[in-house]
This record gives sequence, C-alpha cells and structure tokens, in this order.
Amino acid sequence: MFALAARRMGYRVHTFSPDSDTPTGQVADLEIAASYDDLQRVTEFAQGVKVVTFEFENVPAETAAAVARFAPVRPAGHVLHTTQNRLREKTFLAQNGFPTTGFRAVRGVDDLRQAVQILGCPGVLKTASFGYDGKGQSTVRSLAQAEAAIADAPEVERIYEAFVDFEREVSVVAARGVDGSFSHWGLIENQHHNHILDVSISPADVSPDVAKEAAEIARGILEKLDVVGVLCVEFFLTKAGKLLVNELAPRPHNSGHLTIDAHVTSQFEQQLRAVCGLPLGSTQALRPAAMANLLGDLWNDGEPDWQAACAIPNVKLHLYGKADPRPGRKMGHLTALADTPQEAVRVAREARDLLVARHRR
Ligand code: AMP
Repeated sequence: MFALAARRMGYRVHTFSPDSDTPTGQVADLEIAASYDDLQRVTEFAQGVKVVTFEFENVPAETAAAVARFAPVRPAGHVLHTTQNRLREKTFLAQNGFPTTGFRAVRGVDDLRQAVQILGCPGVLKTASFGYDGKGQSTVRSLAQAEAAIADAPEVERIYEAFVDFEREVSVVAARGVDGSFSHWGLIENQHHNHILDVSISPADVSPDVAKEAAEIARGILEKLDVVGVLCVEFFLTKAGKLLVNELAPRPHNSGHLTIDAHVTSQFEQQLRAVCGLPLGSTQALRPAAMANLLGDLWNDGEPDWQAACAIPNVKLHLYGKADPRPGRKMGHLTALADTPQEAVRVAREARDLLVARHRR
C-alpha cells in the first residue's frame, strides 16, 4: 500500500526482504530477496536509493545502521531499537511521563515472583521481543500459572504487565515531517478477536477531551522519539476514562488502513511525504468509516465470494496479493464508508459475512 502510494506520486520503489513475490515486490520496480543479515546485499540496496523506510519493525539494528551509511533511514534506527523490544519501549514511555500500566522486567523466576507480588494478579506476560498479534503472550491469574507460563524457557526476557480492565482499545495514527510538522487522523476504535485486530472504526465514539488528550500524547511521543514518518500509538481506555499507552508501531498501522478510502491523505501517502521531505497532506476525514480485516480463515471452505461483498455500495475491497491464506494471516481488508461510524461498522461486518455466506447455505 505504501509502494502503491509512492508509484501514484511518480516515485520508483525498491524493496528488500527475505522473501520473493512479496506484496510490495509485486508493485515495486525492483525486489531484492536476501537476508537482513546479508550486509553486502543490504549495502548494494542502499546505494541504489535516495531514502529508506521500513514496514516491519524487526529489521535488525545493524541492518538499519548499514543502510544509514548511504541513505537517510526514516524513521531512524533508534526508533526501531526502542520499539522492537517491549521493555525498552515501556521504559522509554514511563521515563518520559507517558501513561502506561504498571510493568516489571522478568528474566527468571525470581523476577517473576517479585513482579507478581508488586503488580498483583491477573497480569499479562509477554516476551520482550518479536511478539505481535498476541504471539508470545499469556494472561495469568495466579503465581503458579505465571511460573508455568515461563517454565519452558525461564531465561527468555519478558515483561509482566498489570492487567488493564479496559473499556475499549483505541489508537492514534500520527505522522511527523522532516521539519517537525505533525498530523494525525483522530482517534480510531479497535476491536480485537483472538488478540488480532478485527475491526477499526473512525472516529472512535469518545468525548472530545479524550480524543484531544490521545492526540497530545501521540504528539509528545513522536517528538520525544524524534520520529520522521508514521507511528501508531495504541491505547487502552480504562473504565475510569483514563488513557494508557499499550504499544507503539513505528510505521503505518493496520488501524490506519481505513485512511486510504476515508481521508484526504492516507497514512501511506503521509509516510511517503514524511520520508521524502514533502509537506504533510491534509488528514481531514471525508466520511465516517470502518475497516474489517480479512484473515486466511475466510478461505477455509474455498475462495471467498468477492461478488457479494463488492455488490454493497460504499464498500472497498483491498487484497494484498499473498498467495497462502493461512488461518490468522492478514490477507486483505474491507473498508465501509457511511453517514455514521456505527453504520459503517455494521456494513463492514455485513460485507465480510457475505464473503462466506454462500458456503454456509
Ligand atoms: P499487544 O501485543 O501488547 O498489543 O497485546 C495484544 C492484545 O492483548 C491487546 O490489544 C489487548 O487486547 C490485550 N492486552 C495486552 N496487554 C494487556 C494488558 N496489560 N491488560 C489487558 N489486556 C492486554
């Protein structure tokens, strides 16, 4: 989606990843398939381009550093470094006064016992690195359960977080330009299923004060981290109306996919503008919107019924060109536009249901 936005504005795109025939490679001018550790190939890639960005935050720090010798990397390697480890990320947030739930580092059973004693139960145990969509994560309700959860590999670095009894989850997708200019798309509500984003709704149904506070927190984070590009701040909104930052994603985010159809400038075009040093575009909303993710599970009984979903007016289909529809894999999304966010989410869900309704009859 970033490459499409770049091509539309006349840019040439080179992509580097360990895989071939990737969604980006299908629309890029040049696709290099090599390991991120192959610094020779990484260097050749960097010498062929004017600026580098990434859409996957687990690119190793050495790779980002090798690229930075030849082309600006935006956001810079230090943003990757902070956000690719949950402990570093939460420590950065806490030390800079951004609100988070209580947390402790866990590098063995003693740490875990202490964390549970201080923060209580229930809590959420997460691996510090390489976790996403709920992977490497478990909710524990007792010390015994917590000990069992790390028994396989107690030495792995983890974070123990106090459980947040949230009212809902929301996010701010925001962008910062080379000149420090800032923009965001307002507060978006996110509903998860099995720890994976299921639907996003824009605008979120919250008070203007909460929306304003979330945008200010996001602005503070992008400034403090000196981000150039798009970064998403995921929040819990507690039942008491308090915002707690859960996670940062230093790139265009799944909850911002609806900006393609619902806003003057999408998160992908804004990423392009930010990293190429262009002025940021307007983030004004054209219509209330909702996005429904299309996971590989939809293919369980055969090809989904695209005709049925496309027959609904104001529903837009996005498929990413991934060949293998594994359960839980994000294959595409639908965006519905409507007069209200509530109507948009109803239509988005209905359109997604229609994709498999034929199989159920
Ligand atoms: P994460 O990978 O950290 O975004 O977590 C995935 C999902 O797990 C979140 O979107 C929440 O629904 C849930 N979750 C994560 N951390 C907590 C927490 N401390 N308290 C309650 N729920 C959580």
